[in-house]
Amino acid sequence: MVQYKQKCTRCRKNYVLVKSWKDRYPVCYDCDKKEMDTEITDPKMKRMFNIPEELYKKSKFLRSIKINHIRYGELTPNQIKTFKKTVKDLKNPQPEEKEEKKKPKPKKKK
Ligand SMILES: [Zn+2]
Repeated sequence: MVQYKQKCTRCRKNYVLVKSWKDRYPVCYDCDKKEMDTEITDPKMKRMFNIPEELYKKSKFLRSIKINHIRYGELTPNQIKTFKKTVKDLKNPQPEEKEEKKKPKPKKKK
């Protein structure tokens, strides 16, 4: 995985760690935070977005979903589902596969 740092496309001040070539317009956490700092009025959504700030720091995806909601007021069921899944995964990271469990697969001839 290629990781590199690029200047935030919004403030052009902070550097953002870019993890994917798809992330063409990286925005730093500070800029996202400003936009996320809006009262959510939908009680259901409010509950969903009420997660530790740490998680928003960790995940650009979670921030983008919240910003999407603030900007457009609605989310697709799939976005909601993925949001919840991402939160769950960040809270309970999958334990690394144990070394002894990793058996090298015998190479088969082509
Ligand atoms: Zn910025």
